[in-house]
Amino acid sequence: MDFPDLPLVKVSRRGAKRLKDGHVWVYRSDIVNADGIAPGALVGVLDEREKFLGTALYSSASQIAIRMISKDAVNDLDRLLRKRILDSIAYRERVVRDSDAYRIVFSEADSLPGLIVDRYNDQLSLQVLTQAMDTEAVRRIIVSELVERLQPAAIAERVDPRVRELEQLPARSSRLLEGEKRSTVFSMNGVRFHYEAFEGQKTGAFLDQRENYAASAQYARGEALDAFCYQGGFALHLAEHCSKVTGVDSSRPALEVADRNAALNGREIEWIEANAFDLLRDYASAGQQYDTIVLDPPAFAKSKSNLGTALRGYKELNLRALKMLRPGGILVTCSCSYHVSAGEFLEVVAQAARDTHRNLRIVENRTQAKDHPVLLTVPETAYLKCLVLEVS
Ligand code: SAH
Repeated sequence: MDFPDLPLVKVSRRGAKRLKDGHVWVYRSDIVNADGIAPGALVGVLDEREKFLGTALYSSASQIAIRMISKDAVNDLDRLLRKRILDSIAYRERVVRDSDAYRIVFSEADSLPGLIVDRYNDQLSLQVLTQAMDTEAVRRIIVSELVERLQPAAIAERVDPRVRELEQLPARSSRLLEGEKRSTVFSMNGVRFHYEAFEGQKTGAFLDQRENYAASAQYARGEALDAFCYQGGFALHLAEHCSKVTGVDSSRPALEVADRNAALNGREIEWIEANAFDLLRDYASAGQQYDTIVLDPPAFAKSKSNLGTALRGYKELNLRALKMLRPGGILVTCSCSYHVSAGEFLEVVAQAARDTHRNLRIVENRTQAKDHPVLLTVPETAYLKCLVLEVS
């Protein structure tokens, strides 16, 4: 077979099996030969018998040496990238409802490995995670396609310095790639939020929770506590149905935005700057009670090695929340750690139920919003767990 212009990488039997099983990554330890391949190159992938397996993006730095971009031989990367972006946009048009903020491109899950693009109303926020997506040629194509298709008022690039370091990419700062606008207001499920292109965590908001906000709001009532509330995503959604809502976070800047968001929606919410672990412990031992509690902590398990600590953390939080929920109360409990499986998370919450002698009924067993699609054969694309439970 003929692969014009593509340098070739040979992968081991194990690497080839992984690809045949539907994964899109091959680790460095499964690369047989990648001599002379430039960082970020588009490469043809061969098995040990020289059978062609597809086209991939190469990284000279990451343990994930290749990320597949097509099962075919790609001769025109420009065309392929444009088509992938178009497909990503079309998919969101089919699945996103009641929101002008959502993820437009989710890396591997959109066959654009190493690229994240989020939309916040008239603005886009872009993140580049790999050598291949960082080349000037690829950046030009991505930005021009996004501008052509979506006509955003601005495109911001948010840089994670640690990612660039790990990919051995030169340091860059976050900046506008297009346009001048840096702030806007976006809305999800009828709730409005302030957005600042270069402030806050992730690209600004936790868009992956969008559908979980709406789902939780259906069951929420009475007095509610939103622990790890950030800029008030859950709290603001609960406010419509609850008599009183308290949001807790350790980040003052996040709470300042949360307060502005409450004003924007005409809501009265109590914001408390505190370590949520301490606050839940103190409130639980003081006998405080709630009808609705949301737990949405940051990822405790950053790697497999601290899984045990992470599970203890989740158990602790859920235990304290269960102690404070009135009979018939609602617990919304989340984990965004990929390393904690859905099964392990259910088990940890079950342990907390046993320890507190509470019965939990699963009202909804949820995951990330549909604009963060899960590829069935790439387990790493599924990371968010969100359980809505009724406590008796
Ligand atoms: N529920 C939010 C997202 C939460 S992200 C939403 O839907 O938008 C996790 C949040 O936990 C961050 O805002 C971070 O500031 C906060 N955080 C991290 N450690 C904390 C701690 N020990 N106590 C309270 N908040 C903490």
